[in-house]
Amino acid sequence: MNNKKLPGIPFVLSGPSGCGKGTIVKELLKKYPDTFALSVSATTRAPRVGEVDGVHYYFITREEFEHRIDDQQILEYTSYCGNYYGTPKKELYERTVSGINVILEIEVEGAMNVRRLCPEAVLIYVLPPDAETLEARLRGRGTNTEEDIANRLATAREEIRCLPDYDYIVINENDGAEAAADEIVNIIASEQHKVSRNLENAIHFFDN
Ligand code: 5GP
Repeated sequence: MNNKKLPGIPFVLSGPSGCGKGTIVKELLKKYPDTFALSVSATTRAPRVGEVDGVHYYFITREEFEHRIDDQQILEYTSYCGNYYGTPKKELYERTVSGINVILEIEVEGAMNVRRLCPEAVLIYVLPPDAETLEARLRGRGTNTEEDIANRLATAREEIRCLPDYDYIVINENDGAEAAADEIVNIIASEQHKVSRNLENAIHFFDN
């Protein structure tokens, strides 16, 4: 088996808003542009300063989102802090077949749906070093209102209950995105080498 034949892995990155998932994803895409790709979600939330349509999200109206749900174009979706967020089906399946690891940066409800709909996916939970750091990071963004920050902290407290349903945990220390990205690369590499993911290839090893 050479590396080219190893399958691309769809993997979920969840974690409280402000845990630094976005920076970790940037790091992965910068270092490994040929082997990692981001699944771009659709959302009805307004773009933040610097966010680009089609790069960070597909920013669409509520009406368009509901049309895409009815049209079965969305693999999974959720309503988070008053807005829809969802994974377009085409983001996932077109790339894993060509050996690319596809990152789904989604919250816990979506992650549980991915587990059900796509059992080969790996679920990784990213945590900040502590709760104070999380709050400071949310405030430091300067783009969230006080109400939004309170909502996101409350959601984080709720979501942590789902941690046991994940496969791996990665702590994102301050200025630690590069180290966290390296840990994720190691996790994905190990997963790619699992016998269960390569049995078909390995069994035909001696066939001519
Ligand atoms: P934000 O508004 O901070 O960009 O995202 C809010 C939450 O929505 C984050 O926890 C993010 O991971 C989640 N999210 C983003 N895209 C999706 C998606 O396609 N599906 C689901 N279920 N959650 C998503």
